[in-house]
Amino acid sequence: MNESLPEVLNTSEHPYGYRFDWVARLREALEGAANGRPCYELTSVDVTQAMDCPGLWAAKQEVATGDGQSSSPSQQMLLTRQMARMWGRDAANRGTRPFQFVEDSLNDPFWMTERQSAWVAAQSFDERIELVGEISAVLCRLQDQIPFRDPSADVYVGLKWPQVEVGCPTLVADDFEVGRLTLVSDDVDFRVRTCEIDGEGAWARTVLLALVPEKPTQADLERLGFSAAMHTISTNCPPARVAAYGLLDGKLISLDVDAEWIGLQIGCIMATLRIIYRIQTGEEPPLTPGTYCANCPARRDCPFSRIGLEEF
Ligand code: SF4
Repeated sequence: MNESLPEVLNTSEHPYGYRFDWVARLREALEGAANGRPCYELTSVDVTQAMDCPGLWAAKQEVATGDGQSSSPSQQMLLTRQMARMWGRDAANRGTRPFQFVEDSLNDPFWMTERQSAWVAAQSFDERIELVGEISAVLCRLQDQIPFRDPSADVYVGLKWPQVEVGCPTLVADDFEVGRLTLVSDDVDFRVRTCEIDGEGAWARTVLLALVPEKPTQADLERLGFSAAMHTISTNCPPARVAAYGLLDGKLISLDVDAEWIGLQIGCIMATLRIIYRIQTGEEPPLTPGTYCANCPARRDCPFSRIGLEEF
């Protein structure tokens, strides 16, 4: 289905309302799952790996995986995503034009990592022009589709509530503590609209939007389930939708959130805690092979190594 971003961000007809005591029960369940265990810090990567195969999670802990992703997006896509966040915040405040913004930002690399600024500095004049043009084109598309200048749309960068300004406007992770558990996410780039409080509950109106480097996939939406759970327990209301927007091709996919899906996300976080605790207390992780075996560091020694990927 072809979905447009303005349509997906319009949640005025979204039908779901949630009682505060339902959210409180979810929060208590999460707190209870972390009780009596060490303090844990979890990301969506932990949950995805543990739910795919506990052996995969354990193997990934033993190798240096950089940012924890199985494939790393190109420097250009990382810069584009960072700049979209910076520009979203800036445009909302000052109405900056994308082209000017990108050119100025690349000339003033205080916000980049060392690797990024070295990559940008090594570019020829022609390459730089091309880079400015390509990133600006992405920002122009976003400018046309996200209601940055409409104060009633409540567009914020990141997930955190209330929005916290940070010194360096780059990819800053949002965190939320539930008892001994800290949930950390940098998966959400823009949060659009706020829920409507109504008596003992709230109507879901928020859309969590992730900018992804390639064509958005179902896996991108599933990963946003972790952030949707964070949003639910930190604001007392689930988001109305999650959406993934491809920076490269402008394609969009989205998912309407309901109570069952949020319950599933909380359940996955609780199950991940249990799996990690068992592994850390000496249990052999169960092995549940799948297509992700292709990227598993333990593949060579795993009893399932002879299974061909075509069998999944
Ligand atoms: S190779 Fe597959 S089954 Fe074996 S540990 Fe890795 S992900 Fe699990």
